[in-house]
Amino acid sequence: MRMSVIGCGYLGAVHAAAMASLGHDVIGIDVDRERVETLSAGVAPFYEPQLTELLRAGLEAGRLRFSTSMTDSADAAVHFLAVGTPQAPNADAADLRYVDAAVDALLPHLRPGSVLAGKSTVPVGTAARVAERVSGTGATVVWNPEFLREGWAVHDTITPDRIVVGAADDPAGRRAVDLLRDVYRASTEAGTPFLVTDLATAELVKGAANAFLATKISFINAMAEIAEASGADVTLLADALGHDTRIGRRYLGSGIGFGGGCLPKDIRAFAARAEELGRGSAVGFLREVDAINLRRRDRAVQLVVDALDGQVVGRRIAVLGAAFKPFSDDIRDSPALDVAVRLRGLGADVVVTDPAALDNAATAHPQLNYRVERDEALRDADAVVVVTEWDEYRREMSPQHAAELVTGRIIVDGRNCLDAAAWRDAGWTYYGMGRR
Ligand code: NAD
Repeated sequence: MRMSVIGCGYLGAVHAAAMASLGHDVIGIDVDRERVETLSAGVAPFYEPQLTELLRAGLEAGRLRFSTSMTDSADAAVHFLAVGTPQAPNADAADLRYVDAAVDALLPHLRPGSVLAGKSTVPVGTAARVAERVSGTGATVVWNPEFLREGWAVHDTITPDRIVVGAADDPAGRRAVDLLRDVYRASTEAGTPFLVTDLATAELVKGAANAFLATKISFINAMAEIAEASGADVTLLADALGHDTRIGRRYLGSGIGFGGGCLPKDIRAFAARAEELGRGSAVGFLREVDAINLRRRDRAVQLVVDALDGQVVGRRIAVLGAAFKPFSDDIRDSPALDVAVRLRGLGADVVVTDPAALDNAATAHPQLNYRVERDEALRDADAVVVVTEWDEYRREMSPQHAAELVTGRIIVDGRNCLDAAAWRDAGWTYYGMGRR
């Protein structure tokens, strides 16, 4: 099927390459010329496992192209909208200017029978507004939210847990849903559930999923606060809770909390939209979820300060991690970088390392020192903080080897991802989050 993907960021670039790998004929459109040139050369503009291979295969097969011109999307049967919906400046709501600009640019190229499938995460009600805007072109709007996880984006796009398509319950809506069924036939034949809803429900599924995940993470981090005050260990608590099949262990990892380009801005936008709908109190807990999350960053900084007996100025601190999560170079609202920046703000000599996100981090925060090699970041450090749970730190860093490099054997495990006993046995003073 001929299709366009409008907006080729983390979501759109992966979606375009994945759709080409399923045999579709795909044009990716982006306003960022440099990004289009990079993608056209078969180079992933960000770190995402398997994306480069998928891009090259699509380009070589002639099923994948990229362009800055919306005109090139004119013959597509489906236009996937994948532009960013960041937090609005000085507000909690989503900034929909990119959605509106993309829809306006696409308008002259929409034809009767073609489908505009929104994938961007939007406040409930946006799809109906977009449908209103395109009425008169004969095209149909559906909403098909995306649930991919960065670091697993290719896998999640080709083999998602579920596919949700929201559409109007009328002949045009049903035809559009059938078209989407064809798009995703390879996934559904492999067993992926395909759920059809109205437009509003499809938009809400995404917001509600992120609200739930954020709440689960903040729940265990709230328990970490109680554990800290009572002498309990939150990791043992999480293990014991997780064995309850009604609860489950996933997303019960306590640490410095969530970040990235989605969860923080999505829960704020969700709460802001609920307020507009006069139902702010229904999701008032999301404000607390956000506050608990941000407090964990304070806690990690405080642990370092306390470990150094309050003497932070000029002390060398190795910060292991900059990306908001492993297998990603995304530093948007990264708790890891936030901890590094705050320690620098307290006068520490902060040295950051990360296997993938150093370039992005250095561009955003040139005031920090960076080292490509983990061991170089550890060298002469008075304290070490693990803030992104990369395997390079979690599995591959030996406490004995690290001890030979540092000046002070103090380690703050901001992700509770290290073997505390092994580090203590090697002579380190180990501090976890929510642990004695
Ligand atoms: P991003 O910032 O990485 O990418 C957005 C892209 O859209 C950029 O390349 C930008 O140049 C392009 N763009 C902006 N205006 C445009 C226009 N008018 N025409 C064409 N291109 C335009 O953002 P992202 O992380 O890919 O997120 C995109 C959407 O997907 C957001 O709504 C986000 O919430 C949602 N989402 C993201 C993820 C994720 O893990 N990143 C997962 C699920 C859903």
